Amino acid sequence: ELAIAALGGQSAIASLLAHGLRVVAYALLYQAVFNAGIRQPFDRSQEAERRLRESESRLVLLGRNLPHSVLYQVVREADGRTHFMHISDSVERVHGLRAEDVLRDPAVLYRQIVAEDREAFWRLEQASQASMTSLETVFRARRADGQIRWMHLSASPRRLGDGRVMWDGVHTDITEHRVAQDAAHAHEALLANLLRQLPGGVTRLDRDLRVLYVNDQEARWLSSIPQALQGSLWEDKVPTALAVRARPHFAKAFAGETAVFEYRLDEAEGARYRQVTVAPESTGEQGVATVVLFSYDLTPLKRIEEELAHQKAHLARVVNAMPDMVFLKDAQGVYLSVNPVFERFAGRPERDIVGGSDFDLVPAEIAASFRRHDQRAMQAWQPLVYEETLTFAEDGYQGQFETIKTPIRDLTGRVTGVLGVCRDITDRKRAEQEIERLAFYDALTGLPNRRLLLDRLQRSIAACQRTKNLGALLFIDLDNFKDLNDTLGHDMGDQLLAQVAARLVASVREADTVARFGGDEFVVMLEALAPELQDAAAQAETVAEKLLASLNQPFELDGGQHYSTPSIGITLFGDERLSVDELLKRADLAMYQAKAAGRNTQRFFDPDMQAAVNARSNLEADLRQGLARGELLVHYQPVVDHQARLLGAEALVRWRHPQRGMISPAEFIPLAEQTGLILPLGQYVLQTACEQLQRWSQHSATAHLSISVNVSARQFRQSGFVAEVLQALRSHQADPRKLKLELTESLLLGDIEDTIARMEQLKGEGVGFALDDFGTGYSSLSYLKRLPLDQVKIDQGFVRDVLTDPNDAAIVRTILALAHSLDLQVVAEGVETAGQLTFLRLHGCEAFQGYLFGRPEPIDKFAADLLAPPASAPAGGAAP
Ligand code: C2E
Ligand code: CA
Ligand code: CA
Repeated sequence: ELAIAALGGQSAIASLLAHGLRVVAYALLYQAVFNAGIRQPFDRSQEAERRLRESESRLVLLGRNLPHSVLYQVVREADGRTHFMHISDSVERVHGLRAEDVLRDPAVLYRQIVAEDREAFWRLEQASQASMTSLETVFRARRADGQIRWMHLSASPRRLGDGRVMWDGVHTDITEHRVAQDAAHAHEALLANLLRQLPGGVTRLDRDLRVLYVNDQEARWLSSIPQALQGSLWEDKVPTALAVRARPHFAKAFAGETAVFEYRLDEAEGARYRQVTVAPESTGEQGVATVVLFSYDLTPLKRIEEELAHQKAHLARVVNAMPDMVFLKDAQGVYLSVNPVFERFAGRPERDIVGGSDFDLVPAEIAASFRRHDQRAMQAWQPLVYEETLTFAEDGYQGQFETIKTPIRDLTGRVTGVLGVCRDITDRKRAEQEIERLAFYDALTGLPNRRLLLDRLQRSIAACQRTKNLGALLFIDLDNFKDLNDTLGHDMGDQLLAQVAARLVASVREADTVARFGGDEFVVMLEALAPELQDAAAQAETVAEKLLASLNQPFELDGGQHYSTPSIGITLFGDERLSVDELLKRADLAMYQAKAAGRNTQRFFDPDMQAAVNARSNLEADLRQGLARGELLVHYQPVVDHQARLLGAEALVRWRHPQRGMISPAEFIPLAEQTGLILPLGQYVLQTACEQLQRWSQHSATAHLSISVNVSARQFRQSGFVAEVLQALRSHQADPRKLKLELTESLLLGDIEDTIARMEQLKGEGVGFALDDFGTGYSSLSYLKRLPLDQVKIDQGFVRDVLTDPNDAAIVRTILALAHSLDLQVVAEGVETAGQLTFLRLHGCEAFQGYLFGRPEPIDKFAADLLAPPASAPAGGAAP
């Protein structure tokens, strides 16, 4: 202290101390003391000499011991040259130079100053000399080993008695310090940058809430800059709302605790939210001296939160508005949340449900079953779906519910509860039942329908095999029901059927089935009859008699009395394994026997009838084979004009059975139609006819002839029919205009539009059409007009008696007139006598077919007498 006082103006020492350069400061102090010693005003007395040496040796000692400093005395001569009076040995450590070398030639030291710093150095030295003020600088020296080191130099000039100037100096290697300082600066810069970049606000306040520091972000939030805020009172600069809000938190922070709070600012662009953490920072004598505020903008987070809350509320509204029951339970079955429908079910508000379990809501037994379902749902990976009947506590409503229970899992997959949704499916169930009723029950009578009967019969047959009991099928057909329907109308018919149904049901045991089979047909199925055929037959007969008696009672229809009788066919089942179809067929056959026996009676299935059935099915197998074996032949019957000139032929199929000889088509065509064999058969006739047309076309005598081919309804309706005909014509290169297809009136019963469309398609290709057996069927005039026909064929039934039956004569005349007005050609069939021909000709008939002109014959015998012998027939001519 004394030395510093003595040094007075040597503020450099104070500054060095402040910078932590303690060693340098002490060095200077020593030097000052040393200088003070030599500045002693007394003479170079002995005492002075001694002190001088003493201080000199101390300086030398010091110089040796200072690790990083070099002490020196340098003198500038009048001629400007400089030389060192003294330099400490440490110059070797610091500069890598030996002291005596420097003393000899100071340039070796000066040369170490790096070029960039050299000029500044000289300037400062000159200035120091000029003003005689101390020289203080930092420079870089390139040491002898090539390293560049930072040096701090401090030197004080004094004028020697001879006018020279001498500097007492010290320079110190401050490289380490400098590096540390640079690092500190860099660190500081980094921190400052960080604070600037921080997305949050940082404020440092002292106990008076004066702003010590504020970062850029915080300043921006306060619409200011850090410099303008520093030193001002925080409360003056922030919104009042924040200031008020923060006060208690400051108190807490200054008491040593970290405080956190949020605040909201209403700005023009909308509300902003911030979170502030107030943390105690430095501690002084009175406790916490400064606090730091970290502010964080919560607005985006709040927005998300608000959005979530909004969605949650929305979801809650949806759940609450749902017509389904919705509830959430934890894994222990404790309710966490329920919706209003559930409240209705529970009969109490949600607050009284939440926290409790099912055992608080419903009887223990039901609660236990709910709980079992919960547990099953929680163990399943898929939602558990089941149906249950639930009763609402609030209003007693009872319904069928479909319950879906889904396990709720946390993020780790652990099941934490179950979500339940119960949907009221009562209406759906009812609709399902209704659909079932419609599907399996007859709408008019409410009886099981055909489908349900077949199902029950199937089961009953199986049951018979087990129980050894027999059953019976009673096939009931109302006699003359069609008449009633036609005369009294459908409503009456329906009423009668309903009453019949009721009587049938009333006449059998509960366990028996009464079904409506269709139209006026009913089937009664009796089950669990006696195991012996005779006994069972007797039981069935008794029931049948009872049914007959019941149905024979008059029916009340719209006030009037009406009588209806049934025919009942009975067959037993259970003794042999027969199919359902077979059984029904037997009962049906028996019913026809009852009809044949005069109606209003009952008949058992008769084995003879079965034989007839078997014969039929044998015939079917034969026909199938016959077709394959080529037993079917086509004969041709001539069609002539009024002058008996040949117009063409009708193709008529024949079957030459290997055992039975020729079989008439009247016998096998209906069978072929029923079994579908008519398709290959018809195709065969068509192909044969086309082939014949082609042959005829080769000869002038026959080229004009046409062929009529009979086509059954089933054949005509088949989807590929049109293509098939065209294909047959094409493959034989036959002229379509020479082909006529004979259709029957039964075609008019089906889809008439489709019939017309097909006919028109073929007609477009030139194929002609005839309506066969006209007058016997259902043809109505309006249809006749719509069909693209060329010809009608008067049925031979009318022709046969045309001369004897005035009724038939009238019909034939009418047909001829009608056909004429519609511009249709008429062919009279079955013309056997000249008398018939004369009558027909007289009334305008133009074409004829019948034994009078020729029977159906094989092609080689065809119309030998009608065909004019070809004028120039080639030898062995192929025609006809
Ligand atoms: P349809 O088309 O009315 O054929 C005329 C039937 O009258 C033929 O009987 C023919 O032999 C018979 N007939 C011809 N002239 C006379 C006559 O002067 N007096 C009498 N009493 N009968 C005469 P057929 O050949 O037994 O054929 C019976 C029916 O079989 C045919 O009646 C026709 O509906 C059907 N049919 C014949 N061949 C075919 C065919 O190839 N396809 C189809 N789908 N049905 C055919
Ligand atoms: Ca015909
Ligand atoms: Ca006919």
